Amino acid sequence: MRPFLLKPEHQATGAGEAGLKAPRFRYLKPHSLAEALDMLGGNASGTRLLAGGQSLVPALNMRLLEPEALIDINGLGELTGITERGGALILGALTRHAELISSPLVAKFAPLLAKAAPFIAHAAIRNRGTLGGSLAHADPAAELPACAVALDAEIHLASRTGRRRVKARDFFIGIYQTVLAPGEILVAVEIPASRPGQKNVFLELARRQGDYALCGLAFTAEIKAETIADSRAVYFGIGAKPVEAQKAEAALKGKTPLDAPDAACAALAAELAPLGDFNAGADMKRHLAQVLLRRALGQLAVS
Ligand SMILES: Cc1cc2nc3c(=O)[nH]c(=O)nc-3n(C[C@H](O)[C@H](O)[C@H](O)COP(=O)(O)OP(=O)(O)OC[C@H]3O[C@@H](n4cnc5c(N)ncnc54)[C@H](O)[C@@H]3O)c2cc1C
Repeated sequence: MRPFLLKPEHQATGAGEAGLKAPRFRYLKPHSLAEALDMLGGNASGTRLLAGGQSLVPALNMRLLEPEALIDINGLGELTGITERGGALILGALTRHAELISSPLVAKFAPLLAKAAPFIAHAAIRNRGTLGGSLAHADPAAELPACAVALDAEIHLASRTGRRRVKARDFFIGIYQTVLAPGEILVAVEIPASRPGQKNVFLELARRQGDYALCGLAFTAEIKAETIADSRAVYFGIGAKPVEAQKAEAALKGKTPLDAPDAACAALAAELAPLGDFNAGADMKRHLAQVLLRRALGQLAVS
C-alpha cells in the first residue's frame, strides 16, 4: 500500500480552518486495483472510493459524510475501457457518462445507454461522473440504474477475497442502498447481447433539462411479426430503487404497440405504488408513468 498524501497546504481541513467546506480526510491514490482493494479492505467503514466525485464531493461539502480517507480510483486501468465480447458489452466502472454518448460500441450494442446519458445533469458533470459511481451511489432518481435493470446487465464486483457477479435487478435494494459489501469495488458492467428485434426507448419528465427526473422510463421491447414478444419497462424517480412494471409488461405481451396502451396503462396504474416527494405526489407520479408508457409505445409503433 502506497498512500499518496497531499501536501499540508492542500489537505482538506475542518470547516473554517482554511475556508474549505469538506471535512478533513486522508487522500489515498492506489496504482492498481489490488492496491485499492488492500486500502479499502483494511478500513472499509471509514473509507470511501472517489470516482467522478459528482455525488461524493457534494455530500462531503454538506457534511453528510465524514470518511476518514478517500481512495481515488481514477486512472486505474482495470476499471476503464469499453469492449465487446460476442455481442455483449463490457463497460469499465470508470466509463464517464459522456463516453456513453460518444462511444460507437455503446451506440451499436447498448443504444439505451447512449439515449439516457444526455439526460444526466450537464456536460461538466457528465465529463466526470462515472457509470460505476452512479450504480454504486444508487440514487433512485438516477437514469443509469434503471437502464442497467432494463438491459438485464450484470455487475462485476471485486474484493480481496475474489470476484462475483450480480444481476442489476438484484443489485439495488433501497434508497442509496445496494448489495455492495464492505471492501468491494464495482469493477465493470456487462450488458448481454441484444435480443433479435430489440428496440429501446428512453423517456423522462423533469422540471428543467438536467434536473433529476420526476418520473422516467427505460424501456426495451422485442418485436416479432409486429407484436411485442417480450418487454422490460423500468421506472426511476418513483420508488426506492428502479421499479420494473411486470404487470404492464405482461399486458403488453402479444399485442402490437398501437393495440396495447389502454390495457397496459390499467395494469400499470394498479401495480405502481409510487413514493411521492416534494416535486410530485404519488398520484401525479402514477399519472406521469402512464403518460411515459403511452409515449414509449407510440415511439415503438413508428420505429
Ligand atoms: C448538480 C448535479 C446534478 C446531477 N444530476 C444528475 C442526474 O440528473 N442524474 C443522475 O443520475 N445523476 C446526477 N448527478 C450525479 C452524477 O451522475 C454522479 O456522477 C453519479 O451519481 C456518481 O458518479 P461519480 O462517478 O461521480 O461517483 P462519486 O461521486 O465519486 O461516488 C459516489 C458514491 O459511489 C461510490 N463509488 C464510486 N465508484 C465506485 C466503484 N467503482 N465501486 C464501489 N463504489 C463506488 C463512492 O464511494 C461514493 O459513495 C448529478 C450531480 C450533480 C452535482
